[in-house]
Amino acid sequence: MKLYSTRNINEVSTPKDAIIKGLANDGGLYCPKIEDIMANQFDIKDLLKNDYKATAKQVFKTFFDDFTDIEIDYCINSAYNNENFDVTKSSSDNFTNINTSNLNITPISKIGKHYLMELYHGPTSAFKDVALTILPHFLTTAYKSKNQNKKVYILTATSGDTGKAALSGFKDVENTFITVFYPTDGVSNIQKLQMQTSEGDNVSVVAIKGDFDDCQRLVKEIYTDNNIKKICDENNVVLSSANSINIGRLVPQIVYYIQTYIELVNSNEIKLNDKINFIVPTGNFGDILAGYIAKLLGTPINKLICASNDNKVLTDFINTGTYNKNRELYKTISPSMDILVSSNLERLLFLLSGNDDKLVKQLMDELNSIGKYTVDEQLLNKIKENFVAYYATEDECKKGILKAYENDNRIIDTHTAIAYCCLKKHLLGYNEYTSHDVCGNVIVHKNENLDQKYVILSTASPYKFTRDVLKCISNDNIDLLDDFTCLLKLNQITKEPIPKNLSALKNKEIRFNTTLTYIECKQLVINNISKI
Ligand SMILES: *Cc1c(COP(=O)(O)O)cnc(C)c1O
Repeated sequence: MKLYSTRNINEVSTPKDAIIKGLANDGGLYCPKIEDIMANQFDIKDLLKNDYKATAKQVFKTFFDDFTDIEIDYCINSAYNNENFDVTKSSSDNFTNINTSNLNITPISKIGKHYLMELYHGPTSAFKDVALTILPHFLTTAYKSKNQNKKVYILTATSGDTGKAALSGFKDVENTFITVFYPTDGVSNIQKLQMQTSEGDNVSVVAIKGDFDDCQRLVKEIYTDNNIKKICDENNVVLSSANSINIGRLVPQIVYYIQTYIELVNSNEIKLNDKINFIVPTGNFGDILAGYIAKLLGTPINKLICASNDNKVLTDFINTGTYNKNRELYKTISPSMDILVSSNLERLLFLLSGNDDKLVKQLMDELNSIGKYTVDEQLLNKIKENFVAYYATEDECKKGILKAYENDNRIIDTHTAIAYCCLKKHLLGYNEYTSHDVCGNVIVHKNENLDQKYVILSTASPYKFTRDVLKCISNDNIDLLDDFTCLLKLNQITKEPIPKNLSALKNKEIRFNTTLTYIECKQLVINNISKI
């Protein structure tokens, strides 16, 4: 499948080259054309016997058609195995997975009348593991088949979870070197500790004085810097990215939408071709975009519900058509969603505008220069056909965690809680953007598709955000406890075991403790290029 720069349709790439490069030369994102995706539509009834790996294979063969079957099998088996994914201890005690003999790395369980898709059973306890356990294999496979003798230098901006998942995925992978940039104070203690204690000879981690958007801007700027490109060429280094701007990150996320549908049918929770809805805690728009692509491929999806925290730039956009990043970035207890520039939205604009690269370039230029853009009504309507958007405040998020515990007996993390709250708002028919009475109060009216099924994407283990989760469900004074005591305390409340990668942090040595400014980070990358 050909991949095009979202900003210039004449910049075309093969899947392998796009995975190696990450970002297109003009700063656009590689994306298939919408008609090429739809030409590969499947009939869901033909997939009902698929286990996770079989569905993964089907999806990868569709998008990465320059990989051989053997290469794809190798990547899948290297990533999606019992060693990386511990699903034996999933909380799905009130829901039976049909494929008990075949590993489903993203099991489904019940939360009240709805479902949780548990995406956090990987090596770093967040959903990004699903893509980042396999991306290094795609990358090295692509690389080897090109017989290149260059080294790949992977630069990664993180709001907390991508960083550790990438460090874990690329650890000691030959011919690669990785640097992760995270914002000082923008990540949870456990996230920071996970990154600072990373092992491997080819990894490095730097805190940057700024927020996540600065980290992401830094990485994009380095890719498109001609001087740095020259230095790379001189040193036989090619830059790549583990961020969701890399198409190799996006495509693996399509799989679990399809597989969840299959398993809901097979366990008689839904009938074949019933439409279902997904609620996605959203930051960079990668996860939810994968859901839209699953829909384009033929998965019977009604709405994708975009859930934001107080940084509700996407809620505003989807409800009004204006994207405006000129606002304060709030630090919340769902830090992986503290983002004002959602990179993957660019791909959605490309697809829904019928691959209109000129329009996308114009909108992205406006975003860069004045910090905002507005789409026309036609495009907005297409967005609204597929997406609905809500946000939950910090206070609502905390109450959501308590409610899920008290009413549904589930302990959910702070990101999942945002989605949980947004689902409640959706079911109430709550839309503060359109429905006001004469006094300006929000009118709540019943939502149509109440009998449809709703699946919440649970993107992180509650243990990863233990302190904040505990504060919501326990009356004790948590502030006095250290993070590891918090883990144990949460373990006493929930029956789920503490993920090994988190309990092991206690005895690990801190290897990376550097904080640099934006400019210093750029210099560091230049220095590294000549050293690796
Ligand atoms: C990254 C992340 C998100 C947001 O996903 P996007 O693909 O960036 O929209 C949500 N929750 C958690 C726990 C994450 O790590």
